[in-house]
Amino acid sequence: MSFIETEEQKALRQAVAAMAANYGQDYYLEKARAGQHTTELWSEAGKLGFIGVNLPEAYGGGGAGMYELSLVMEEMSANGCALLMMVVSPAINGTIISKFGTEEQKKRWIPGIADGSITMAFAITEPDAGSNSHRITTTARRDGSDWIIKGQKTFISGVDQAQAILVVGRTEDHKTGNLKPALFVIPTDTPGLHWTKIEMELVSPESQFQVFLDDVRVPADALVGSEDAAIAQLFAGLNPERIMGAASAVGMGRFAINKAVDYVKTRQVWKTPIGSHQGLSHPLAQNHIEIELAKLMMQKAATLYDAGDDFGAAEAANMAKYAAGEASVRAVDQAVQSLGGNGLTKEYGIAAAVTASKLARIAPVSREMILNFVAQTSLGLPRSY
Ligand SMILES: Cc1cc2nc3c(=O)[nH]c(=O)nc-3n(C[C@H](O)[C@H](O)[C@H](O)COP(=O)(O)OP(=O)(O)OC[C@H]3O[C@@H](n4cnc5c(N)ncnc54)[C@H](O)[C@@H]3O)c2cc1C
Repeated sequence: MSFIETEEQKALRQAVAAMAANYGQDYYLEKARAGQHTTELWSEAGKLGFIGVNLPEAYGGGGAGMYELSLVMEEMSANGCALLMMVVSPAINGTIISKFGTEEQKKRWIPGIADGSITMAFAITEPDAGSNSHRITTTARRDGSDWIIKGQKTFISGVDQAQAILVVGRTEDHKTGNLKPALFVIPTDTPGLHWTKIEMELVSPESQFQVFLDDVRVPADALVGSEDAAIAQLFAGLNPERIMGAASAVGMGRFAINKAVDYVKTRQVWKTPIGSHQGLSHPLAQNHIEIELAKLMMQKAATLYDAGDDFGAAEAANMAKYAAGEASVRAVDQAVQSLGGNGLTKEYGIAAAVTASKLARIAPVSREMILNFVAQTSLGLPRSY
């Protein structure tokens, strides 16, 4: 692992930052408040090769890795444009299909995911399972060569923007017990698939949905990978998801700190700008250190993942997501405080980040479940569940 980014990585960082800054937080919030999607931004990011940077070149991707995709996510978020579907479409789904899909599945889905013309949602969470994915009950039964899928999912992001959803279920043969996930790509226009929007207090152009699968019939080739040994296949996508969650939070932390620093440098109510008072400068310095530390762990996780060390990447990805979530919540909180009353105005745009920053503590895996993982896996402590 090198601490110095290559010329290509630096150039990518600059190019993504320049594109995202062109849109900026005003665009992102305007779209969110109008209930619209950031279609122009998504398709430009796709055309410039940013969305599919981690996907194989043979299927239209950039041929790089999770390091580069997390860098894209971080820069977009640092410029006020953290798009959730980046976490889902190329990082989880693109990775799983390129690693475990058939030749036909790769040809059908990866080029579109890579250039942004296809957005694929991801559905694992269920109302009665939540953090305990071993309890999911969405079930697939065979009918001839087809599969018929029944179940319910919740908090699924971007279904209304998506052409397909990668659904995590289980086959009838593995209906109970520890999860042996079966993964299906289901086009969103398939009969029997319905969704309703969940009203959130997040200011985000991407919405969350309850998804209902009422005997959804899909052909045999909707199944991605093996039908009963897919836990490794699932985690091939969930570790990238955690790395991307960390990248989004690191970017949001940088965004908040930058806003606060710009403000406290010039705002003056005593003899000197308020940024000279250590009551403000020290917490911001601390936030900066915490974000940089979280970023380092995120880069370690991405590097391990790209090197094929799945076990090492899992531990690092969990730690990075935890550290980035905590650091960004604190950075956003301190940014609001640093702006005083303006911290709560629409004009300064930092209050909108308060709820959004909490997302990194809850999803894709909660702070507590990461602490459980570290306690049990890294420290060898007994489980409480
Ligand atoms: C904006 C948003 C977007 C999302 N997008 C998607 C998506 O696209 N696809 C998808 O599948 N899911 C998505 N999710 C769901 C997300 O992954 C879940 O919300 C998350 O995994 C937590 O599950 P839960 O909400 O059911 O909380 P619960 O599991 O009910 O947990 C509630 C609280 O209890 C704690 N807790 C639970 N069990 C334990 C334990 N054993 N020890 C200690 N504490 C515990 C949790 O940490 C949490 O604090 C999204 C969620 C949000 C908010």
